[in-house]
Amino acid sequence: MSGMPAFEPGGYGVYVHVPFCAVRCDYCDFATWADRDHLVDDYVDAVVTDLGRQRAAGVPAASTVFLGGGTPSLLDGSQVARILGAIDRSAGAEVTIECNPDAIDATRLAAYRAAGADRLSFGVQSMSAHVLRTLGRTHDPANVARAVALARDAGFTRINLDLITGTPGEHLDDWRHTLDAALALEPEHLSVYALTVEPGTPLGRRVASGRAPDVDEDAQADAYLLADDLLTAAGYEWYEISNWSRPGEECRHNLGYWLGGEWGAAGCAAHGFRSGRRWWNVRTPERYLERIAAGRDPASGDEVLAAGAAAEEAFGLALRTRAGARVDPAAGTVVDELRTGGLLRSSEDRVVLTPRGRLVASDVTARLVLAGGVAPA
Ligand code: SF4
Repeated sequence: MSGMPAFEPGGYGVYVHVPFCAVRCDYCDFATWADRDHLVDDYVDAVVTDLGRQRAAGVPAASTVFLGGGTPSLLDGSQVARILGAIDRSAGAEVTIECNPDAIDATRLAAYRAAGADRLSFGVQSMSAHVLRTLGRTHDPANVARAVALARDAGFTRINLDLITGTPGEHLDDWRHTLDAALALEPEHLSVYALTVEPGTPLGRRVASGRAPDVDEDAQADAYLLADDLLTAAGYEWYEISNWSRPGEECRHNLGYWLGGEWGAAGCAAHGFRSGRRWWNVRTPERYLERIAAGRDPASGDEVLAAGAAAEEAFGLALRTRAGARVDPAAGTVVDELRTGGLLRSSEDRVVLTPRGRLVASDVTARLVLAGGVAPA
């Protein structure tokens, strides 16, 4: 079995949420707004204040930072520099910025690089124009190639492309074309997500009214397996259910989420986790601004998991990764069944999902947990 992904145990991450987009995509139910441009400057000020308070309270230096959204690339270079300047970072920290291929230019990318960003994640979703139209995305495939070229010119050597499978009307040939076109851009990292049709989104309403077909889960499974085959053949290593990278190019920030790291949060709707406590900030930018202006904690809720629940959660997250999870011998019979069924590989006391097992990861996890497979820490 493959070893652990590159990950610095004990590292501390910082997630900053940027809740602004130029246009809302038809499938999106994230905490983001396309009509709040007037708040951007104040929001950046508030995030800088929030991060400054966290720093004064003695949070560790960050070994990873992730600006997600929303569309962080709507922020100009000086805004990103102010946010990154408010975060105490350890030497060699990974700093990722999510970008819309439409919303970047050479000046902005050079400023991001100068501010300390070393990794870009582009929301590509598809390289087929008709699929992008169904998703309500504003870019076209040519923009993606242009964006990647601009990023290379600006000195970025770590690029991720986010792709989505299962868009209504997407055929397996469309998906194969998307994968081939994405691979031709030679990114260091690729993420593949299965589309979920969320009620309340324009796409959800079209599906509910019969104007668009619903997601075909069998077709999504075929698309996933095709992605795994093509990416593996192209030299990418699978390391988490939805993620593949060139060797050593795993996203260290996201590995922290899956492998027991801790992270702080800034911005509305951001989640953090530290010392066993998980918290989530108020959802809207307006409420976040109010909280920060009033000198209050922006968290709107929190929880501390009991030891058993925390161990189960850690087990399920580890099982998502290439390293797999340590399994208690009590689940030996179920492990044998799952292995015989082609869903797991096992070695000594660890189990790792096979490609087909990743398609039903939740079910596999539930069966192992129920069988007493969560090994004591
Ligand atoms: S760019 Fe991303 S965050 Fe913004 S609306 Fe589209 S899917 Fe949602």
